[in-house]
Amino acid sequence: MNTLNQKSAVSVALALGSNIGDAEQIFLQAQKLLTARGFAIEKYASIIKTAPVNCPAGTPDFANSALTGTFCGTPEELLQITQSIEVQLGRSADHGFHTPRTLDIDVIIFGNTVMDSPRLTLPHPRAKERLFVLEPLKEIAAEWIFPDTGESVSEVFRRIRPASLHYAVASGR
Ligand code: ADP
Ligand code: MG
Repeated sequence: MNTLNQKSAVSVALALGSNIGDAEQIFLQAQKLLTARGFAIEKYASIIKTAPVNCPAGTPDFANSALTGTFCGTPEELLQITQSIEVQLGRSADHGFHTPRTLDIDVIIFGNTVMDSPRLTLPHPRAKERLFVLEPLKEIAAEWIFPDTGESVSEVFRRIRPASLHYAVASGR
């Protein structure tokens, strides 16, 4: 039962990425830390390997995965948690854009929240262009809706897939 001073649980989808170290272990650690900070994990996707997108030559391949769960707090509180876990697991807080990282956690969908602030955009602004986000996510949340456009994860995946397959061939150098 909900009372006025209780925060209700919001359904959240997170994307995980790593291209330094043992991704399986890093994602496992991330799951433990998220749980310890109050993120109740419901499903986790398989890990896929992907070629770097818009990264300098020589950037190692990425491992990507996704999680769904519930969180009783604000989007900003969750971002603060995910960013502190990134740092705790070895990503320097002042990393360069698109540089190799032990762990990247992106908040993809936070319930029905649609927002754009300097620190946080929801749904994640680049998720719908990223096969490496959508492919793991569709395994565990194919029917989830992006609240800004009303499209489901599987619909967006089908829409961008041809272009992304072309990209995968072009990037295989
Ligand atoms: P990317 O995840 O696109 O590779 P970065 O992780 O380097 O890029 O960028 C992180 C920045 O993106 C953070 O400073 C954070 O404030 C901002 N940001 C905006 N919206 C989100 C979101 N939905 N999830 C995670 N970070 C976000
Ligand atoms: Mg990120």
